[in-house]
Amino acid sequence: MRKRSRLKIHLNILKENFQKVKKLSEGKKTIFMVKANAYGHGLVPIVDYAFQTLKIDTFGCASMGEAMCLRNELVDLNFNLIVFSDFNLEEDAEAFLNRRIVPVISNIRDLKYFLSQDQFRFLPLYLKFNTGMYRLGLPMSALDETINLLKSKNRHVDHLMTHFANATLDIKLNSQNKRQIKNYQQIRDSFKQAGLKVNEASLCNSGGLIQKLSIDETHVRPGLMMYGPSGMAIIDGKEIGEWDGRPVSELETCVVDTFYAEKGTPIGYGGSPCPYAGQIAILGIGYGDGIGTNYSGVELKIKGGLWKIVGRVSMDMTAIQRVDESGEELKINDRISLWGPEASDNFARICRKTKMIPYEVFCNISNRIPRIYAG
Ligand SMILES: *Cc1c(COP(=O)(O)O)cnc(C)c1O
Repeated sequence: MRKRSRLKIHLNILKENFQKVKKLSEGKKTIFMVKANAYGHGLVPIVDYAFQTLKIDTFGCASMGEAMCLRNELVDLNFNLIVFSDFNLEEDAEAFLNRRIVPVISNIRDLKYFLSQDQFRFLPLYLKFNTGMYRLGLPMSALDETINLLKSKNRHVDHLMTHFANATLDIKLNSQNKRQIKNYQQIRDSFKQAGLKVNEASLCNSGGLIQKLSIDETHVRPGLMMYGPSGMAIIDGKEIGEWDGRPVSELETCVVDTFYAEKGTPIGYGGSPCPYAGQIAILGIGYGDGIGTNYSGVELKIKGGLWKIVGRVSMDMTAIQRVDESGEELKINDRISLWGPEASDNFARICRKTKMIPYEVFCNISNRIPRIYAG
């Protein structure tokens, strides 16, 4: 475990981002996606705060393990919990019935089993269709069979959903998005014609919401945007949509040593020659903390100056070098932020240089880094 490197979570900024999400979603209810340890921000404290302070009452997990962790750690909080992909209807039945966890049914085999079980009679039916993403979801070819099964069992749909493969691209112009919207509408029309009631529906993840996609759904399912970044595609130098969320997390680390190096000095494992002459600072963070070797070459604004990650990132340490005379020199024991609310373009620089998506940058931050909560 680290002590001086840590991920500081600014809960007041989560609140700020949620206010913006509410504005964009125009009164629709929020299913806050908290899979993968709340995108690395800490599952339990994030849900605790979102439920108690932000009054969000429904959360989405990927796996049964995440859902059970929330139920066990937050026993007194009466929130709704949906598990999207990794569960087993037979093995996890007890948890669905007694711990109030709702599975999203996304294949015919599970649907048949669900409808055949008398014990699931009073469990809400959440259905997810594959409208064109081809990951998880009932296929369009199973639409008629689904309708017949539901009618034969006299069941309605409590929540209908689908997920976009290209929500970071133009929702109106991208052909895959257009096809998915068309398929969604076909599902709604078919259900209606069959006289099947659909109580709730959700379509939008962050990308859909940022593009203000709205058809007839009652809920939105934001994940990434709640934590700050938009993840939207950049076209002609401009990000699609207008998301002005701020990073909730701040990755703090410290300077463990500094020295001056001439151009060409071999730095670290493999001895990569240093690109300039100038001050080097060794940071107490490395790939053991989730700052991978692909961070080499990333430029970062630190204390008003521009710095560059030089040499190969090692397990415990990373070398940065001052690129120019802007900003200050660093000293031993200085505390610095690699990204955060006040240095939000660093996060974008990291994504750009490492070619990682923001989701991956967050999820890579390892358990060695303590999460601490402010606000
Ligand atoms: C992860 C996920 C979301 C949230 O996606 P973001 O891009 O993080 O907003 C929404 N819906 C489903 C089904 C998901 O798996």
